[in-house]
Amino acid sequence: MGKTIFSKIIDKEIPADIVYEDDQVLAFRDIVPQAPVHILVIPKKPILNLKHVEPEDQDLLGHLLLSVKKIAQQEGLSNGYRVVINNGTDAGQTVDHLHFHILAGRSLLWPPG
Ligand code: AMP
Repeated sequence: MGKTIFSKIIDKEIPADIVYEDDQVLAFRDIVPQAPVHILVIPKKPILNLKHVEPEDQDLLGHLLLSVKKIAQQEGLSNGYRVVINNGTDAGQTVDHLHFHILAGRSLLWPPG
């Protein structure tokens, strides 16, 4: 399988509006935002989705969630935010690289549809 668009963003082969980066994680603004704030938080390790995580990924998964918290603080999301992980076809996953959506800046409906 070839590189996903997110692997190309990690390798800086294509541009992205990056809001946070460390040795394990990259976060950038979604190109088709579904809310005033829409950020994608991804591991640099190319994991397809949650079905493909392994026990060895436990620390990385914790680090991803702590990064979400850090980014939410950085973005000033004091009114709250939603974190979404789409896994597989029925969930609407379109990029085969694990990613957390952070959505904020408006009142979000539930159930999401
Ligand atoms: P999902 O549908 O959960 O797989 O989410 C994939 C997300 O990636 C969508 O919200 C897309 O708008 C977003 N996306 C696709 N290509 C890019 C890109 N080059 N830069 C930023 N976001 C992208």
